[in-house]
Amino acid sequence: MRAMVLRSPGQPLCETDLPQPAVGAGQVLVRVSACAVCRTDLHVVDGELPNAKLPLVPGHEIVGRVAGVGERAERFKIGDRVGVPWLGRTCGECRYCRSGRENLCDRALFTGYTLDGGYAEFTLVDERFCFWLPDSCSDAESAPLLCAGLIGYRSLVRAGDARRLGIYGFGAAAHIVAQVARHQERKVFAFTRAGDVAAQEFAKSLGAVWAGDSNLSPPEELDAAIIFGPVGQLVPQALKAVAKGGIIVCGGIHMSDIPSFPYELLWQERTVCSVANLTRRDGEEFLALAPRVPVRTEVESFPLVEANEALAHLRTGRLRGAAVLVTDSTPD
Ligand SMILES: [Zn+2]
Ligand SMILES: [Zn+2]
Repeated sequence: MRAMVLRSPGQPLCETDLPQPAVGAGQVLVRVSACAVCRTDLHVVDGELPNAKLPLVPGHEIVGRVAGVGERAERFKIGDRVGVPWLGRTCGECRYCRSGRENLCDRALFTGYTLDGGYAEFTLVDERFCFWLPDSCSDAESAPLLCAGLIGYRSLVRAGDARRLGIYGFGAAAHIVAQVARHQERKVFAFTRAGDVAAQEFAKSLGAVWAGDSNLSPPEELDAAIIFGPVGQLVPQALKAVAKGGIIVCGGIHMSDIPSFPYELLWQERTVCSVANLTRRDGEEFLALAPRVPVRTEVESFPLVEANEALAHLRTGRLRGAAVLVTDSTPD
C-alpha cells in the first residue's frame, strides 16, 4: 500500500510502498478515503512533540471503509464507514481511565503519533476507538470533524456557558467551533493573524459578530476565549480581553512559551487551562450534535502524495477551513 512516511523529524514525508498490515484481534483494517491535516501533524513532522514513533505514517482525522475485521472484533463489518480519531488506545486501568478521563491515560497511544495513522491507503485500528459517522457530510468533509471538530468541541465545553466567546486563530477547529457556538446562541468574536482579512471575512461568514487582529481589543468584554493558535503571546492578550471570572482555554497540543504578565491580568478569578486529547464520550456527543447544527466544513482537498504541499499550506496559513488528503478510492 502507498503511504506518506516520516523518517526523521524536520524532513519532508517520503512516498513509500509499505506491506499491508495484518489484522490482529480486536482490530479493523480501514481503507482510507480521506484524512484531514491537523496542526498537530505539523508539530510531529517538525519534531516539536517528543517520542513519536519512527518511521511514522502521520494523520489522525481518518475516514474510510472497513476492509478487514480481526478476531473478536464485533462492532463493524466489511464496508462500514468509520472515523478514526487521535485517541488510538488507552490502558483502561490507570486512575484517569477509571475516572472518565481516558484523554489523560498514562499509557495512551495516539493515531499518527505513537501509532501509524491515515496518510496512507490503509490503516489498522483498535475498533473500540473508532466512531460511526453521521451521513450528513461526504468523506472529505467529515474528516476534519475527527480532530478539529472534536478537540474544538471539548474546548468549547471547557469554556462553560460563556455567552461572549473569543476564538484566537481562525483555522480548521475555529471554523467548526464557531458554527456550534452560534447554534448555541453565543456571540463569537474571531481573532486572526494581523492583517489576515480573508480569515476575518471567513469568520464573519460563519456568524462571528466581530473579527479582527489578535492584538486588538474586542468591542465588548468576553466571558471566555479559546486559543487555537500555537502562540504563547496570545494568552496574556486573551486575559486582557476577558471579563472577571473569564476562562482562557488553550486548545492546542503545543504552544510557544507564554510571556510573563502582571498578576492583575489573572486576578478576579480569571482562569487559564488546557485541553488535552479527547475521550470517546466527547466523540459520541460531538458527532451526534454536528448534524443538528448542522456543521458544514470547508475543505481543500489534496491527493495523498501531496501531503507535504498540504502541510506547507497549513504552515503558512494559506488555507480556508481544513486541508484534507484524499486517496484515489474516495467516493464523491
Ligand atoms: Zn489509562
Ligand atoms: Zn489534530
